[in-house]
Amino acid sequence: MQTARDVLNERFRSPIVKAMIAPWLAHAGQTLDSANSGFSVSLFLATFIAAGMPLPHGGSDVLIKALVQLVTDHGGTIQCDAPVDRILVERGRAVGVRVKDGDTYTVGRAVIASVNADQLYLKLLADADVPRALTEQAKRYRYGLGCVQIQLALSEPPHWPDNRLQHVGRPHLLRSMEDCALAITQAMNGQLPSEPAMSVDVPTQLDPSRAPHGGAIMCVQVLQLPCCPTADAAGEIAVGNETWTEDLKNRFADRIVKLLGRYLPNVPGAILGRHIISPQDLARYNPNSGPGDPYAGSLELAHNYLFRPLPSQPSHQTCVPNIFLVGAGTWPGAGVNGSSGYIVAQQLLTSAV
Ligand SMILES: Cc1cc2nc3c(=O)[nH]c(=O)nc-3n(C[C@H](O)[C@H](O)[C@H](O)COP(=O)(O)OP(=O)(O)OC[C@H]3O[C@@H](n4cnc5c(N)ncnc54)[C@H](O)[C@@H]3O)c2cc1C
Repeated sequence: MQTARDVLNERFRSPIVKAMIAPWLAHAGQTLDSANSGFSVSLFLATFIAAGMPLPHGGSDVLIKALVQLVTDHGGTIQCDAPVDRILVERGRAVGVRVKDGDTYTVGRAVIASVNADQLYLKLLADADVPRALTEQAKRYRYGLGCVQIQLALSEPPHWPDNRLQHVGRPHLLRSMEDCALAITQAMNGQLPSEPAMSVDVPTQLDPSRAPHGGAIMCVQVLQLPCCPTADAAGEIAVGNETWTEDLKNRFADRIVKLLGRYLPNVPGAILGRHIISPQDLARYNPNSGPGDPYAGSLELAHNYLFRPLPSQPSHQTCVPNIFLVGAGTWPGAGVNGSSGYIVAQQLLTSAV
């Protein structure tokens, strides 16, 4: 139940080691002072040692193509651009899935929905008999902070101050654990942080096929940002009306590129192009992001473990016996891992639903 700050201060003396581990908490949607965040310190370190940081050769869509092939090889079909509007329930069981254009698909055995509990109970099951406690809790489904991701095309790889950093999966750039905590507090207060920690991923270091010869790509991730910013902690950017406009996200990206230059001086001058994803872009693109949360729901203690996705209906079951929830909004949470699907698959393979 300890906080990450307590664990880091108790177990480590080096401010550099503390600063190295601290920003990983943001990848778990937590702050350094969140209840139980101390557990994530052990979890991240154990995971990196056991599994490293795998990267699909050729780009992340290779992973998606492989999963699609797995489905089609087994006779399944996949339909894109078909937002589900309702799950049809008769006599307490799901019998059909209706998509936006009105087409309905008959349910064989079960519906597995990769959506958050708010969407399931408030929209997809809006015509079904859902216990009041569930709809009330679904209305209070809580989202975490947002993120900005900046993809950079570079004319040359970053010049790391230490060559060993070329072999590190995803180093973070920041001054200290304390600065990392301060930036997250600023974000929780609705402010654009003046100096957030940045995670820097250079996939071309491991997979040169991703850029023309001599060039590089870099992904800069800034986590734990306000989804609806109200002010700038540095007092430099006019924030406007709580919206990540194109202008705001570009000005914030300029701040991040400037900060990058402090640690990697050759990078700002090597940028050939950039693509920025803001919390608002995420919200527009994926209903599971709510207002722009990359992790599909808060991962604080009150929304985790036995309380995920909802205290009245934790785990992957729902109030309809043949509807299951999977995905980042369910246990064990966010990340490209497939764990919730694995859990549900085992239930379906071993029990009569
Ligand atoms: C910018 C960013 C960077 C990230 N970086 C990493 C990383 O480096 N490593 C890592 O492990 N994780 C990372 N994550 C988190 C990770 O991507 C997510 O936790 C993970 O993709 C969640 O997978 P999922 O299958 O639960 O849901 P999603 O990927 O959210 O997929 C759900 C899909 O369902 C669709 N959908 C929702 N509602 C409906 C509906 N009614 N009808 C039809 N379709 C619907 C959505 O459009 C979406 O395509 C990142 C997330 C973001 C946003």
